[in-house]
Amino acid sequence: MRLADVKGHERVRAVLARALERDRLPPALLLDGPQGVGKKTLALAAAQAALCEAAPLPEPCGACRTCRRVAAAIRPERLSELRQEADRHPDEDVWRNFRLHPDLVLAEGWWLTRTGRPRTEPEIRVDQIRDLMGEIAGAPFEARRRVFVIDDAHTMNDAAQNALLKSLEEPPPRSHVILVSSAAAGLRPTIRSRCQRLRFGPLPRLVVGKMLERERGLGAEAARLQAALAGGSLGAALSFEPGTELRRREELLALLEGVAGADALTRMEAAEALEQVEEPALLLTTLRSLLRDLVALRAGATPDALLNPDVAPRLAALAASPLGERALNLAEDAAQARSALRGFASKLLTFDRLVEALAGD
Ligand SMILES: [Zn+2]
Repeated sequence: MRLADVKGHERVRAVLARALERDRLPPALLLDGPQGVGKKTLALAAAQAALCEAAPLPEPCGACRTCRRVAAAIRPERLSELRQEADRHPDEDVWRNFRLHPDLVLAEGWWLTRTGRPRTEPEIRVDQIRDLMGEIAGAPFEARRRVFVIDDAHTMNDAAQNALLKSLEEPPPRSHVILVSSAAAGLRPTIRSRCQRLRFGPLPRLVVGKMLERERGLGAEAARLQAALAGGSLGAALSFEPGTELRRREELLALLEGVAGADALTRMEAAEALEQVEEPALLLTTLRSLLRDLVALRAGATPDALLNPDVAPRLAALAASPLGERALNLAEDAAQARSALRGFASKLLTFDRLVEALAGD
């Protein structure tokens, strides 16, 4: 896996490549940005480069024994085997610290409770971090460096964040911790301040659209639409089921069109319907794309500049309505609701509040 294989994010890739080339990978890094844009992939590519026997180089050589071992261990099929294996031992926290190489650990959160019941959000448990702390303090076994990638770092519970902080305070010279997060606000300020932060933006719609054309065999128009609905997240765009997102967008449009005149009971029903949606983050991304189009239309944008050009006439009508005047604030409300849900807020209360905001109360 090369850094250059990750789509988009030229600036972040260039910064990482330069640090690797100079053998100056920071002891603690935070890769922060939307879900599904390639943060973890880039973290693992950087890890491979740091461990590579030919390092320091801006990219892993891809040919040495270490590179080959790491590349084999980070294949998606291998990772999903490791996850399945871990799920057979939900009460043993450290099973989700995947040892991809003696000097490379990928820690992921549990989607199961210790008794094996499903969770709605993953959780990184304190014993996982305690296990890592011992390793971070040690010297490399085989490679020049040791790298610890913590995915969805914001899902570390309080005790886990406390424990990690100690490791970040005095990092040994050849250990590197890379935190990956789509909700860095969920990390303690003390952790964030000890990390060098690299921010990822959403992928350009054109990049996501091209990938969808290639990977999903979609036509250019359908790919463009799906890319827009995914808000620049390739992961989200690839996880869409054909038709589902369009249906959901239709429901959201109908909500925007009807919410102002709706009575209290209807609004409560609307909030309950939103609460039932399986992927609230995707739903809120789609809502935000509609609201952003309203803002754009009010600023004089032409239909072809919209994220949702196929429903331009309906959006134009909404933009001219009282709801359109509040579109900018509402887009912000949708973004806040999304962060709130990542922070374990009550789904129903969050959607209640959002529907009330849309109604203008
Ligand atoms: Zn190599």
